[in-house]
Amino acid sequence: MELSIVIPVYNEEESIEPLIREIDGVLAPLKIAFEIVAVDDGSKDSTFAVLRRLHCHESVLNVVRLKRNFGQTAALAAGLAFAQGEIIVLMDGDGQNDPADIPALLAKLQEGNDLVAGWRFNRRDPFLNRRLPSMIANRLISWATNVKLHDYGCTLKAMRRDIAKGLKLYGEMHRFIPAIAYERGAQIAELKVNHRPRLHGTSKYSITRTLRVVLDLLTVKFLSSYSTRPAHVFGPIGLISGLTGFVLALYLTVQKLHYHLDIGNRPLLLLSILLIFIGFQFITMGLLGEMLARTYHESQDRPVFVVGEVLQSGGGL
Ligand code: UDP
Ligand code: MG
Repeated sequence: MELSIVIPVYNEEESIEPLIREIDGVLAPLKIAFEIVAVDDGSKDSTFAVLRRLHCHESVLNVVRLKRNFGQTAALAAGLAFAQGEIIVLMDGDGQNDPADIPALLAKLQEGNDLVAGWRFNRRDPFLNRRLPSMIANRLISWATNVKLHDYGCTLKAMRRDIAKGLKLYGEMHRFIPAIAYERGAQIAELKVNHRPRLHGTSKYSITRTLRVVLDLLTVKFLSSYSTRPAHVFGPIGLISGLTGFVLALYLTVQKLHYHLDIGNRPLLLLSILLIFIGFQFITMGLLGEMLARTYHESQDRPVFVVGEVLQSGGGL
């Protein structure tokens, strides 16, 4: 199998059939072995019935039905786990992504990239509750992560199999796929893709998504920069706080013992105690983090590096 198209669908009964036909129309002339993996994310309408019917006629269509609605990220993860292709393309099931862009994505991937992300430069969504929050989120993500893209929210992406299989997605992290892949050493590129208005059904998200994106950003930033060395985040704060507290306490002790001043009612005393406690807490938090990092990596044999290739010689005498 050369290519898998992974599509998460949730209540898209009217959109999914035309989309699958469109994908067929685009990919059939390319003469490559491909499959479509539609993940029904616990739809409550007739989406699954439509998929089941299509599956009987379409030899390229695989359908994975989740037991309940797990969310777009989980649906994508399910599709990624199922996909057989050497190259995996992700796209929305509502028809807003244009299958006609797939050949260009594949070509860009062949230029030596591991992941090509779509950029919806003509985004067809309402401004106030969609494009504006997404503009802010894009700036934030671009600032906080090492991957500079224009559009992180675009589902349409193509990636190589090893990248796709190495992804661990939690929460609503599908928009951080390029950032996560980059941390694992992937070569990332961006390509302008078409975006179309939603023709049927309604969007599954509201404005509150922006808040969750910001929280996820925090997690991704922390994990990508510090997951193997948490003590380096908490340690310095703890050290500075603890040392400051210690110096203040020393100063008060000198005042008490040498100058015989009353220090019992000094706010500085409280502050120094507070700083010393905070210092201890941060340092122990860092150490606990270090233990967790070891449990995380060693319990699942997940090394802290990713090997690109190995040139091994037989070795001489
Ligand atoms: N989706 C999903 N599970 C969910 C919510 C959404 O699989 O819980 C799918 C949905 O069917 C669509 C894609 O994710 O194919 C993107 O959703 P939507 O179009 O509502 O998002 P928007 O384009 O408004 O950002
Ligand atoms: Mg959409």
